[in-house]
Amino acid sequence: MKCFFCQYGSEPSFKDLDNLTKFLSARKKIVNRERSHLCAKHQRKLQKEIKYARFLGLLPYVSYQGIK
Ligand SMILES: [Zn+2]
Repeated sequence: MKCFFCQYGSEPSFKDLDNLTKFLSARKKIVNRERSHLCAKHQRKLQKEIKYARFLGLLPYVSYQGIK
């Protein structure tokens, strides 16, 4: 099975928030490779891009909204 980014021929980008949020858990943690089903290359890129988006304030580091 191809990974999400290989399948659509795209690369993870800090600007592409819709696709980055797909790989965040309910508490906005980055999901691991077992759950994301990404290849090593794209998981590595995704981590960097999510961390950069967090640095810019585009994504939260942690969230407790909607969780009791
Ligand atoms: Zn890939």
